[in-house]
Amino acid sequence: MPVRYAVLMTADSLRADHLSCYGYEKGTTPNIDAFGARGTVMENAFCQGSNTLYSFPAILGGFYPLAIDRWLSGHVGSPIISGHLPMVAESFKAGGFATGGFHSNPHISRYFGYARGFDTFWDSISTYARWDDKFYGTAIKRRGNGGRGKGTLSRRLRKAIETRPRLFRMAIGLRDRVRPLPLPYAPADRIHSKALEFLDSADGPAYLWLHYMDTHFPYNATPADLEEFSGRRMSRARIDHLNRLMLHRWIRPNDVRDVVDLYDASIWALDRRVGRFLDELDGRGILSDGITAFTADHGDCFYDHGVIRHPATNFHDVQIHVPLVCRGFGDVDPSALVGLIDLGPTMLARCGLDVPADLMGRPLPHDREEVYTEVRFRDSMRLCVRTRRWKYIWEPGSGEEELYDLREDPSEERDVAAERRDVAGVMRDALDLHRRTVEERALAMRIRKAGLAPEVAGAQRDGRP
Ligand SMILES: [Zn+2]
Repeated sequence: MPVRYAVLMTADSLRADHLSCYGYEKGTTPNIDAFGARGTVMENAFCQGSNTLYSFPAILGGFYPLAIDRWLSGHVGSPIISGHLPMVAESFKAGGFATGGFHSNPHISRYFGYARGFDTFWDSISTYARWDDKFYGTAIKRRGNGGRGKGTLSRRLRKAIETRPRLFRMAIGLRDRVRPLPLPYAPADRIHSKALEFLDSADGPAYLWLHYMDTHFPYNATPADLEEFSGRRMSRARIDHLNRLMLHRWIRPNDVRDVVDLYDASIWALDRRVGRFLDELDGRGILSDGITAFTADHGDCFYDHGVIRHPATNFHDVQIHVPLVCRGFGDVDPSALVGLIDLGPTMLARCGLDVPADLMGRPLPHDREEVYTEVRFRDSMRLCVRTRRWKYIWEPGSGEEELYDLREDPSEERDVAAERRDVAGVMRDALDLHRRTVEERALAMRIRKAGLAPEVAGAQRDGRP
């Protein structure tokens, strides 16, 4: 029996191992745990890109980042979703569902093509004018004419200060005492009220996507949240200062404990808000007549493997293993290996809609042999394939490679690429095949969109890769 609602909640930078339902020793997520206890906590879910830009194509579009063909001139990190690539919301809309998306992350705003398929799309761009055309609009134009223009002087000044760490830390320390750090993102409560407004005005079945920035730096826990969650007292100025250090990548190893406490308190505060939202959904009968998922686009690092924040090229599990807590997914095996690329197809199928052949994921239930995570710059790429036992990372341009035996070495400390040439060779071939398959499929969509080949009829039968 198909369901009438599909609700997808994504939290930014939320690593699976910091949720209590994934074994974290602190009680960060009592509400999400309770939701999972009535549904399924998927233990082995992985994202297809390790930051927002590279993860969301698979979540909202159903295709791998390698399928993207448009990159902003002179800037390697900002892909724009081309019109020939499918968006999951379009399929829901075509199936008669009302579609709504609510978030405040500029990287997945309308500028980058993410509004396509949504009847109602709120990306906070109009509310937070600082992030509006002033920033992203002109930044795009500026990149188009070679990256020169306003801001060169401030960039030089900043670079000069950053080469003097003591001076830099002192300067921002002083600034944080006199000027509080403004939160650039809409908090979860605001996202929830917009989403409920949309649900209450929707007439009939609906597809709803919400994205939370509460767990992305600057982390938005207040001193009161911190105290209630962990009993720790931290002043507003200290919180602002830690957030500013995180923004500038200036966190030192001895700040890590405080930053992690702040991060965990932000997860706990988000969980409380998500709990209230789930109650609202339940009151409207949406949980029992719907498919609902809570997940994250990627994790965050606190000097894990020497890394902070979430660089696009880091494929260690701390960053690519994401929570996936769901309800209404049917008879799924919690231990199955799944990619976030499977979410769109799963939601469409559970709602009784066709899964377009162009979507590269597969509806659950299934258990993948492997999952892929990747990043592509203008003229280089870094690819990762992960099975239950092995993780292999490869840069085709330089030939650089890493191999980890996750059974013997789950924390990925020892690269065994040189001693296990047999395994590395097979996994390199798998990545090469994956890359070619994705690129060929994307090219076929582009040719079709240009009217140079006939439309593909019907739904997908074999969702490889
Ligand atoms: Zn993100």
